[in-house]
Amino acid sequence: MSYSNTLDFAKGMDAKDPLKSFRSKFYFPTFHEKEVVYFTGNSLGLQPKTVEERIKEELDAWAKYGVEGHFLAKRPWFAYHENLTEMAANVVGAKPEEVVVTHSLTTNLHLLMVSFYRPEGKRTKILCEAKAFPSDQYALESQVKFHGLDLEKDLIEIEPRAGEHLINEEDIIGKIEELGDELAMVMIGGVNYYTGQLFDMERITAAGHAVGAQVGFDLAHAAGNINLKLHDWGVDFAAWCGYKYLNSSPGGVSGMFVHERHAYKPELPRFAGWWGYDKETRFQMEPGFNPMRGAEGWQLSNAPVLGMAAHLASLEIFEEAGMDRIGQKRDVLTGYLEFIIKDISERNAERCTFEIITPADKSKRGAQLSILAHGQGKDLFDVLTEQGVIADWREPNVIRIAPAPLYNSFEDCFRFGQCLESAIQ
Ligand SMILES: *Cc1c(COP(=O)(O)O)cnc(C)c1O
Repeated sequence: MSYSNTLDFAKGMDAKDPLKSFRSKFYFPTFHEKEVVYFTGNSLGLQPKTVEERIKEELDAWAKYGVEGHFLAKRPWFAYHENLTEMAANVVGAKPEEVVVTHSLTTNLHLLMVSFYRPEGKRTKILCEAKAFPSDQYALESQVKFHGLDLEKDLIEIEPRAGEHLINEEDIIGKIEELGDELAMVMIGGVNYYTGQLFDMERITAAGHAVGAQVGFDLAHAAGNINLKLHDWGVDFAAWCGYKYLNSSPGGVSGMFVHERHAYKPELPRFAGWWGYDKETRFQMEPGFNPMRGAEGWQLSNAPVLGMAAHLASLEIFEEAGMDRIGQKRDVLTGYLEFIIKDISERNAERCTFEIITPADKSKRGAQLSILAHGQGKDLFDVLTEQGVIADWREPNVIRIAPAPLYNSFEDCFRFGQCLESAIQ
């Protein structure tokens, strides 16, 4: 694909974009009465305009029926989450029985690790990536301590090699093989939140299974971004949040995946709550836990309907767009943004002190580019913000930008370039 850093080129690309009509389905924040360049869909996705209607339907049902809304609402609250299952499964490449939308991401990670991190004998170790998202680090640490194990010995982190920013996948595979029957679980972010590096989840899963370990992924930066095939890849478990690329409201409900080979094992240990109980007999309230079949057996609580209504609105848009078309646009759009940044840094070589650390290979990344700013990165970031670019600053020196293919345009990328060029000048 040959690109050009001009407004005409960007507008031409937008005109033939098969997803162009989707932009108008979202509210864009404004700055000085102009739409911002919103490149933080990897942190909080924009609000779909249909969210209000979906939430209003449930507020009206609540007003009209009170508690009876559990059965009388158009989408009965008793089973509200079921409205989301199939569409969420399509987003992550799973069978519907393998997916449930419930709780928040870190909660789901813990619930899944309770079932899938089962240290026994010499098989006690967890393998994860160094500099995982902080919440994941704390979750992993506390799981190790919960089993009375030793962080130094049992939590193994894979780091980039000296002088490199990305993790070499061979090091992950090599470490899995080296740990062998001491490895209980691999738990990695499918897309690293800091660098935007996408890992080969199929290969990592196969390597983990070859030594008898369970393999799970945090898909916070992958769901709605990457074309996932969780079922076919044989991943044991996964969790993701609904509010990044999935645009489902701040702190919104999240999803979890349990592969079908585990999903029907009622004997699998878990932390239980009433909503994970077999729904046919749930209200007999008998002692003794009899789980739902499938991923639904990991639910604790009854559905937070208002948050789920927001998620429903967003998933309807994903269903209409389809992950295939989203993925195709993602690669072309991200490639265009990368081209613009490189064009600017080449033309301003003497002033430029930044580099893109995200992999250049599009099969190794999604929609995010991480710009490592040597020197005055925060100043650069602040000037961009002042010009109406909403990006994300991560200490010590990374600016993360993510053109979300559902609603960002080629013109957004061009405008970003204009702001960047004037900022460095
Ligand atoms: C965003 C994110 C989280 C956030 O967890 P919450 O429980 O939703 O607050 C956790 N892990 C990763 C990798 C993330 O990117």
